[in-house]
Amino acid sequence: MNRIADEKGNHVQDIFGEDVFNESVMMKRLPKKVYEKLKRAIDEGSELSPEVADTIAHEMKEWAMERGATHFTHWFQPLTGVTAEKHDAFISAPMADGRVLMSLSGKELIKGEPDASSFPSGGLRATFEARGYTIWDSTSPAFIRRDEGGALLCIPTAFCSYTGEALDQKTPLLRSMEAVNREALRLVRLFGNRTAKKVIPYVGAEQEYFIIDREKYLKRMDMVFTGRTLFGAAPPKGQELDDHYFGTLRPRIAGFMHDVNEELWRLGVPAKTQHNEAAPAQHELAPIHEMANVAVDHNQIIMQTLKRTATRHSLRCLLHEKPFEGVNGSGKHNNWSLVTDEGVNLLDPGKTPHENIQFLLVMTCILRAVDRHADLLRESAADVGNDRRLGGNEAPPAIISVFLGEQLEDVLEQLVSTGHAEGVKKSGTLYTGVSTLSDISRDATDRNRTSPFAFTGNKFEFRMVGSRDSVAAPNVVLNTIVAEAFRDACDELEAAGPEGFDNCVHDLIKRYAAEHQRIVFNGNGYSESWVTEAKRRGLPNLPSMVDAIPALTSERAVRLFGDFGVFTPKELTSRMEIKYETYSKDINIEARTMLEMFTKLLQPAMFKGARQLSDCVNSLKQAGIDTSVQLEILEELGELIREASSARKELLSAMKNAENCIGGRAQAASYRDNVVPAMEKLRKPVDRAEMLIDKELWPVPTYADLMFEI
Ligand code: ADP
Ligand code: MG
Repeated sequence: MNRIADEKGNHVQDIFGEDVFNESVMMKRLPKKVYEKLKRAIDEGSELSPEVADTIAHEMKEWAMERGATHFTHWFQPLTGVTAEKHDAFISAPMADGRVLMSLSGKELIKGEPDASSFPSGGLRATFEARGYTIWDSTSPAFIRRDEGGALLCIPTAFCSYTGEALDQKTPLLRSMEAVNREALRLVRLFGNRTAKKVIPYVGAEQEYFIIDREKYLKRMDMVFTGRTLFGAAPPKGQELDDHYFGTLRPRIAGFMHDVNEELWRLGVPAKTQHNEAAPAQHELAPIHEMANVAVDHNQIIMQTLKRTATRHSLRCLLHEKPFEGVNGSGKHNNWSLVTDEGVNLLDPGKTPHENIQFLLVMTCILRAVDRHADLLRESAADVGNDRRLGGNEAPPAIISVFLGEQLEDVLEQLVSTGHAEGVKKSGTLYTGVSTLSDISRDATDRNRTSPFAFTGNKFEFRMVGSRDSVAAPNVVLNTIVAEAFRDACDELEAAGPEGFDNCVHDLIKRYAAEHQRIVFNGNGYSESWVTEAKRRGLPNLPSMVDAIPALTSERAVRLFGDFGVFTPKELTSRMEIKYETYSKDINIEARTMLEMFTKLLQPAMFKGARQLSDCVNSLKQAGIDTSVQLEILEELGELIREASSARKELLSAMKNAENCIGGRAQAASYRDNVVPAMEKLRKPVDRAEMLIDKELWPVPTYADLMFEI
């Protein structure tokens, strides 16, 4: 194995981005004019002529072939939750003499036509118009992926229906980036910035995951089919000692991480931080933040790389939000900020009064956005697996609130009560309108890990997202709701004119702070009392995915997404349908797996356990030895066998009822209300039986085997 530790540190610099068709490669290989045109297309969204596209495609192919690629693919993100690809060799039709040429045309680079009918469309696309298009996203660089199949040129693309409706994650993301760019530029212009050309959302997505042994994984039908354990008694030790968190990496894991990093660096993914997470066998990887669409693509690459590399190391990477009951699940922290092309972060408290006022307006606009559309933000993190995590005393509750930190909250409170703020806690004095906000230092406030949406110095961290999910959806929502808040503020500021500007900003900040103060919560988000308090404040609490989905098609959402051209009403309805369907299908697969595992593996083991005990009782009796203890356990086991058997029947009938439900929402609700509880009912007696039975008889690896023995 190739060990960086044995090599020079600058090895990383050598390999970083070597498999990426990035700017430096383009600059080197493309004719200057072509490069400039492509650059303009990337920066300004201008069209590429067919000749220019042909030249780029040709060079991209040459470069890819030099790096060993034989095939290319349009790499896209349909609404299946994973990426999709269809490989095409570079060969063109054989010539008369039987030889082939290798080619990639501009047309092939820009547009692909996968059959769209086999991807989820939520009714957007009838089979007679099955055609779908993948369209090159030139803002996210092409890259070469290597695996057992060789090297493959991956061209990031958006995926649309024949009639132009978005069938993927990327299209709405790009639209939302344009929306927030437009409105944020308006805002910075009003504050006197004449030079910025663009405001770009930046995203850093911290990824949590579990690593277990692959052999053991393959012995668990539940993990193979559903990604999580459907049965399993808690091990004697969980995460109570906190000894795993930030602990030294086990050698096998360290080796795995080494290879993950190396592969990611080759792909230009700035993997930066790695450490053990709270639960046994749980880890985290954080890359450095990048432009939102690149970060979203890179997060997909990270997830795929984790999985592929794990397999090579005879390990298995679990991305499910809750692979094990009783210990923490996994999420993804979506760090988000808005940065101009000149590098100014709008979420950075400024050093001058002028910047401070802009900062306070941006902050209060974000408060307004999150308060108005808390349901949408919650929905963007809705995922079948995440239902098992949110609100479970390990992850934020299903209630959206914003953590600002003591200092900022104090500023807002003063603004609301007196119209201006002075004597800011900890640091200096703040006046608004005409005055100074002393530099709000990054660490003026403690952290709050229980908040779903926390301000962390110069960015917001949205912590609800599930570990398996694309981070596209939360960023689509963030970009769009903030675009709306900026638009409303700019409308008022522009109407006030230059003379009225100072007063208008002051009034807006004060008004937004007062109107949306209810969304600010600095306390313990995991506590019961917060649930009660949030209810009193009128904040939505949407505990399950099924509760969250309707937010997508509310009148308010339709208007919001329509105003900014992010989703049409049809696209929203299709996403709603897909989500209900996904929920029902996922739970149905879990229930079927559970039944199969129970009837074929675990129930027989329970029978064997009972048999072993009764054999034991018989032989002891013959020897005249007291059998009361054995009989007691046998009775307990018998009771559990009966309980499990009747739970199995209940589950079967709950599944039948759910299958017969008509309509996406009704069916999903039936799965949630009847099938999920029936599954829990079956699990309980089986997990208790596991604790009573000889380990030799238990046919699947236990929690202790999976989490501790690696
Ligand atoms: P924290 O300790 O607050 O979580 P880190 O510096 O460790 O902060 O960063 C966590 C993640 O947030 C990383 O992925 C990092 O790149 C990202 N991040 C840092 N600054 C920003 C920013 N301005 N915008 C978006 N993401 C950011
Ligand atoms: Mg963090």
